[in-house]
Amino acid sequence: MKLLDGALVAAHYKEQIKEEVKTLVSKGSKKPHLAAILVGNNPASEAYVGAKVRTCEEIGFASTLLRLDASIDEASLLKEIAALNENKDVDGILVQLPLPKHIREAAIINAIDPAKDVDGFHPVSIGKLVLGEDTFLPATPYGILLMLSYYGINLSGKHCVVIGRSNIVGTPMSILLSRNNAYGNATVTLTHSKTKDLKAHCLQADVIIAAIGIPYFLKADMVKEGAIVIDVGINRIEDASKKSGSRLVGDVDFDTVAPKCSYITPVPKGVGPMTICGLMQNTLNAVKNKN
Ligand code: NAD
Repeated sequence: MKLLDGALVAAHYKEQIKEEVKTLVSKGSKKPHLAAILVGNNPASEAYVGAKVRTCEEIGFASTLLRLDASIDEASLLKEIAALNENKDVDGILVQLPLPKHIREAAIINAIDPAKDVDGFHPVSIGKLVLGEDTFLPATPYGILLMLSYYGINLSGKHCVVIGRSNIVGTPMSILLSRNNAYGNATVTLTHSKTKDLKAHCLQADVIIAAIGIPYFLKADMVKEGAIVIDVGINRIEDASKKSGSRLVGDVDFDTVAPKCSYITPVPKGVGPMTICGLMQNTLNAVKNKN
């Protein structure tokens, strides 16, 4: 079993991006600038946005963090997005999800200028992804592709089972893996909460990508010998032995599944850091597209 080390791989890509930024700036270009909007103070969202802003600093990007009160109404949030769309200094815009219930996420995402949609959630980005055109790929699937590429893992002809069909992970991942290109050409089964006999599907899989949001969901008896397992899940569970009283675990029962795998990602330090890399690569690409 080989561990797919998200911390190590992310460090590699961040170094690469940092060097590209230096080159761009030395040629007179401005630094890439990512603007993040955080509505309210959900602790998980605070942590994710904090990590993104810190990464910007590490790799030489400019960043702006716009903190807005949870009580903001949709029209006011749309105005903030319009201002960022207009701001020529801002290259990428991300709105940390989830948003408070009274705001329609789709309305907010649709308002982002597709040229600045570095999270890759805008319908224009998703439409281009489906058509196989160049676009911003959603950060988590993109990060997973970067990780597979780093380890030289080619999925052509492999049977991939994706568990979970969210718009941000499962659905785009399933489409990307089935495309006719360098990272695709897999045969993909997209499974979800209504799938019958998920275990039988998983036992057929050369590759399983779990994006469900249920701790330890994927068990050893659902995985065939030699499979590749990518664990997207980030779930906080109680743990009295930790100072904080909790810890993060994935959707995969790592301890029992790992011995059966050829490759597996851990949680934490698996897909999480790669998602940030996907976002940063998209932001750099936004500047390159403009230049
Ligand atoms: P979501 O909550 O939007 O969707 C979950 C999906 O799981 C649904 O499509 C549902 O059909 C499926 N599902 C639920 N129960 C199931 C069952 N019993 N059998 C089969 N499928 C079932 O999910 P999401 O936003 O894609 O997030 C999934 C997990 O990934 C969460 O833990 C989230 O925190 C994590 N996540 C991690 C990253 C990262 O960077 N590592 C990024 C995004 C999401």
